[in-house]
Amino acid sequence: MTENTPLISSPEHSVEGFVREFMRELNFSQGTVLERSTVNDEYLALARTVRHYLMAQWMETTVDHYRAQPKAVAYLSAEYLLGRQLDNALIATDLVEIATEALASLGLDLADLREAEVEPGLGNGGLGRLAACFIDSLATMSVPAIGYGIRYEYGIFRQTFADGRQVEEPDNWLEYGSPWEFAHPEHEVTVGFGGHTEKYTDDDGVERSRWVPGWRVLGVPHNYMVPGYRNGRVNTLRLWSARATHAFDLKIFNYGDYAEAVRSQTFAENISKVLYPEDSTPQGKELRLQQQYFFVACSIRDFIDQLLPRGFDLHRLPERIVFQLNDTHPVIGIPELMRVLVDEHGFEWDDAWDVTRRCFAYTCHTLLPEALEVWPVELMGRLLPRHLEIIYRINDEFLADVRERSGGDELLVRRMSIIAEHPERAVRMAYLATVGGARVNGVAELHSQLLRDKVLADFASFFPEKFTNVTNGVTPRRFVKLANPGLSGLITEAIGDGWVTDLDRLRELEPLAEDAEFRRRFREVKAANKDRLVDLLRRRDGIEIDPSTMLDVMVKRLHEYKRQLLKLLHVVTVYDRITTGELAVAGVTPRTVVFGAKAAPGYVMAKQIIALINHVGAVVNSHPEVSGVLRVAFPANYNVTVAETLVPAADLSEQISLAGKEASGTGNMKFALNGALTIGTDDGANVEIRKLVGDDNFFLFGLTEPEASAIAERGYRPTSYYEENESLRRALHLIATGVFSHGDRSTFEPVVSNLLGEDRFMVLADYQSYLDAQERVDAAYADPEAWSRSAVLNVARSGFFSSDRSMRDYLERIWHAEPLPSS
Ligand SMILES: *Cc1c(COP(=O)(O)O)cnc(C)c1O
Repeated sequence: MTENTPLISSPEHSVEGFVREFMRELNFSQGTVLERSTVNDEYLALARTVRHYLMAQWMETTVDHYRAQPKAVAYLSAEYLLGRQLDNALIATDLVEIATEALASLGLDLADLREAEVEPGLGNGGLGRLAACFIDSLATMSVPAIGYGIRYEYGIFRQTFADGRQVEEPDNWLEYGSPWEFAHPEHEVTVGFGGHTEKYTDDDGVERSRWVPGWRVLGVPHNYMVPGYRNGRVNTLRLWSARATHAFDLKIFNYGDYAEAVRSQTFAENISKVLYPEDSTPQGKELRLQQQYFFVACSIRDFIDQLLPRGFDLHRLPERIVFQLNDTHPVIGIPELMRVLVDEHGFEWDDAWDVTRRCFAYTCHTLLPEALEVWPVELMGRLLPRHLEIIYRINDEFLADVRERSGGDELLVRRMSIIAEHPERAVRMAYLATVGGARVNGVAELHSQLLRDKVLADFASFFPEKFTNVTNGVTPRRFVKLANPGLSGLITEAIGDGWVTDLDRLRELEPLAEDAEFRRRFREVKAANKDRLVDLLRRRDGIEIDPSTMLDVMVKRLHEYKRQLLKLLHVVTVYDRITTGELAVAGVTPRTVVFGAKAAPGYVMAKQIIALINHVGAVVNSHPEVSGVLRVAFPANYNVTVAETLVPAADLSEQISLAGKEASGTGNMKFALNGALTIGTDDGANVEIRKLVGDDNFFLFGLTEPEASAIAERGYRPTSYYEENESLRRALHLIATGVFSHGDRSTFEPVVSNLLGEDRFMVLADYQSYLDAQERVDAAYADPEAWSRSAVLNVARSGFFSSDRSMRDYLERIWHAEPLPSS
């Protein structure tokens, strides 16, 4: 780059300027005219138009970063659940009104074009969405940051239902073009796999090891804009796509074995083919380890070769970069950087270790033992033989330290080993991350405490200075400004628009909770949001809901620990009480219970729970009396786009995991910020939400974490709850006797026997407490003034849950990097 890289200028920020740019795109890029264009043509032209308004800022940001060489944050994440890009870009550039008017002048409706965008679903749930919120906040805060990940050709599957059962369909999101990405094949990177290592003596007579890979794959970067909110900054998200090496082309000529060559090409390209649809339950598949190494190796190489000046002294790497590991998926980066420094740059081992340890930090996202990733040594040795050697050496030196500091406590040494011995020899990735990273953080106060006290207790004693907390957050741009324009307008009218980038200012709304006129307008916004949802569900799913009922929403991945079954038992109990005449319809607060959840395709129990929800829904919704006051809606394929309409419409947010199982949750934050009240356990970030919004504005129920642990310790006995609780017995009886399965007792037998047997998540233990809390909900909802007062206070007191605050915490506690604002 020269001193004065000339930069293109943006199109004019006016309706005429926008129309001109749009028509140019439609004619010259899409090659069509308005009279003959499809909605997709128009969407693509619109996306490119908006893109052009961001381009100059993007180039400027890139050049500024290159010139200033500041310390940068590289966020390494196997998932980015981005959601649609168009609206976010329009908001960042303040073009919503101009675009609306410009399109209208051409006889087009922005709302129709918006619908043409297929959201890039490159993530499963909370973890991937968190990465998307974080890069949004980093850009908005002008922090030099780059997101690295995988450009999956197929993202999270599209869910449909057949007879109430989940069916998965491939998500071919690239089919109609991806106007937000920029492929850069000229910056491709080569990554090795397999082969063997060999010893040799270098020119200085030092014994060294080197890797001779058996096969290679190319990584092609695809860049995405990450626009800051009206701050002149656009950061980059760089996603890697796998290609066969060029040696493949030669092979075709040299050997004429076309079929074999094509097979190996397919083999290479499989690496970025599909996102693994598992949330919290890794399956340890070989291709998954290939994906992890592929994107991390590409990213490290990219940073060193492309973003550092030529000749940069890598001993100073920690001054320029911190690699944040989003869960264990990118942890293979630790031995990879060691390999690059020692094998490729001739570093002494100790120097390389000193650099590496300062370049990484690890975020743990779970408390479930089965979610802690391990890779069999056999697989690691076959795929990444040099990395396995490096891991062994890291482990040997670490365990020597442990042995020395513990006075030879061999039990402790075995417990802390990065290599597990049972049930097979395997690399514990969370331990490798803890040993090799400068910091380890949990994602909510309770979670971080449990990491220190339980999951990583030995490590917390050994490295107390490494452990810290950063409570998760969500971006107010997407989840309030974009998703809830009604509420955003009301807030801005009351306190100005500073809250969009300084969410603590929502506090200024607190006095307005006492203002009857403000509450009335708040209820008006909620009602309009419900109408918007009615519309969406009607168009998208053919589901009819009644917007005058309480909207009770549970949306998140389907997992036993999240306890969708507890919500369902509440539904079944209300159904039972009405049909048996115990409860008069007139005395029931009308509710619409909305579920949204995908299950991992191999998670049998989760899929049965989906079927049960749909079957209960069918019976409830068609019952002449019950359906007047209780309805179940389960729109298929819950994703970010659906969340954007669903969350702002909700009255009640269901956050009901067993205490000690949900690391943080972020759905809980989205709902509170949009004025839903939470019914929740003392788990994850619920604890902090309740503390901030106040007990009067939160429906707490259930076991605490210490209580749940104590029960697990002495042995959970679900039958004791069952025997003592008639209402519970009756609810389970209805399911077991086939009331929701056309009389077939076998259909949901496994679900019932699990609740009465092994259930690690103690659904029955919290049943009564949950029902009691739901009665408090009904009572509170009966007073609309008091309810909306609580709802306003939820909004006013949830500013803490902005991902901007999370980023400030990471910057201060972990990254030690600084913003580089636009000049
Ligand atoms: C926020 C979000 C999640 C995470 O929800 P939790 O309730 O925290 O599990 C999952 N999926 C989507 C689409 C989201 O937007």
